[in-house]
Amino acid sequence: MTTPGGSARTTCLFCRIADATEPASVVHADDAVVAFLDTAPVNAGHVLVAPRRHASGLTGLSDRDGVAVWRVAHRVAVALRKNPTWSEGVNLHLSDGEIAGQSVGHVHMHVIPRRTSDGMRIVEDNPPQRPSRGELDAVARDLAAALRQCAGEPRG
Ligand SMILES: [Zn+2]
Repeated sequence: MTTPGGSARTTCLFCRIADATEPASVVHADDAVVAFLDTAPVNAGHVLVAPRRHASGLTGLSDRDGVAVWRVAHRVAVALRKNPTWSEGVNLHLSDGEIAGQSVGHVHMHVIPRRTSDGMRIVEDNPPQRPSRGELDAVARDLAAALRQCAGEPRG
C-alpha cells in the first residue's frame, strides 16, 4: 500500500514497515495505522502502533491519525488484557522527542503487556515536587492559553 509522506518514506523505518517494504510481524493494519511487534520487546506481545502517514512527532500528527493510533492501541491493550497469559496489566507509552527517549523518528505508541516480575520499572529519578495551588493555577492558565491557541490551528 502506498501512502503520502514524501522522501521520508524511503528513509524512515516505520514508513517502510507501513509500506510492507521492510519485514515486520504485523498484528493489525488498516488505512490509517499499522501495528507490529517490537523487535526488542519487554514481554511477548509488545506492540508498536504507528500511523501510515509519516509524522516525526506529535506536532506533525493529525487529529485523525492520532485518534486512529489511540483506537488501535486501545484495542490491542484490551486483547492483551483478556488473557492473563498475555498480560496482567498494560502500559501505553509514547515518547515525543529524543530527550523523551524517542528512538525512531516516526511517531508511535508502545502497547506493553506487563507481567509480575517482568523486570520493567518506571522510575522518576527526580524527587517529587509539591508546587503550591497558586503555582499550579499559574501553570494551568498558561497551558490553557496554549491549548486555545492550538485549537485554532489546522490539525488535519
Ligand atoms: Zn515514517
